[in-house]
Amino acid sequence: LLSEIPAALEAGQFELFYQPLIDFKSGRCNRLEALIRWRHPAHGYVAPHRFIPGAETTSLINDLTAWTTHAAIKQLSEWHAVGLDIGVSVNLSSRDLGKRDFDAMIPDLLNYYGVDGTAIDFEVTESALMHAPENVLSSLEALRRLGSPVSIDDFGQAYSSLTYLARLPATTLKIDQSFALNMQSAPKNEAIIRAAVALAHDLGLETIVEGVETEAQFAMAKRYSSDGAQGYFIAAPMPAADVPSWLSASPLYA
Ligand code: C2E
Ligand code: MG
Ligand code: MG
Repeated sequence: LLSEIPAALEAGQFELFYQPLIDFKSGRCNRLEALIRWRHPAHGYVAPHRFIPGAETTSLINDLTAWTTHAAIKQLSEWHAVGLDIGVSVNLSSRDLGKRDFDAMIPDLLNYYGVDGTAIDFEVTESALMHAPENVLSSLEALRRLGSPVSIDDFGQAYSSLTYLARLPATTLKIDQSFALNMQSAPKNEAIIRAAVALAHDLGLETIVEGVETEAQFAMAKRYSSDGAQGYFIAAPMPAADVPSWLSASPLYA
């Protein structure tokens, strides 16, 4: 599969799906996460876990990220042009950061499409950020200077270094979906979510609870004062074309 990525990029076989995030303060979707999909001519739909981890061991991930950031920023400019006031999050790999090409590419894309940096959020997994060298941190700082939020993804899944967390130039902590998903079977997961939200707030970070599939999980995320939530209870990732009608039909999550 990995060897087919360059040709697949060329042939336009990748697509971004978008999953809404709810901001509890407004009760609305203020941002959507862009998630890559591969429509493979022989294997059908190929999920990202089948090719992203492999691509991350090579420079192929840089080509994929160049494609996803371009596609997401172009999509944002189209949505903004029709009056949708929303942002998009894109997932980055640690291998993307700390590279001069990447640092230059983002402001170029934003300028070209006339999109404000505040509208695009960059997600990096906690594990990718642990022991990140100085140049990775400086890439994140450069994104912050563009006004872009930076989210720590899947928090709590890897070994979390709390000292390190405090030093990252991040704005948001996304609490790994395993905690909400297993809330009923392992009640201690609820305590972890509550503590992670409190810790994030003390560090000046906003929070998103991931993997919210039920009304009970949604209510729990609100009860513990998370700033937002994401999951199938709100909506599954959807094609870009479905986003405007989803947004206009979406209830107020007050
Ligand atoms: P992620 O960034 O943590 O994205 C969230 C994943 O959880 C998505 O899976 C999403 O479909 C899934 N999800 C959302 N809500 C729920 C829920 O309520 N329950 C459950 N069980 N799952 C939920 P997806 O799209 O298969 O992506 C998997 C991972 O692949 C992502 O995890 C991200 O790490 C990576 N990925 C996806 N697209 C990209 C991309 O464009 N670039 C990079 N570098 N990585 C990507
Ligand atoms: Mg993510
Ligand atoms: Mg995540």
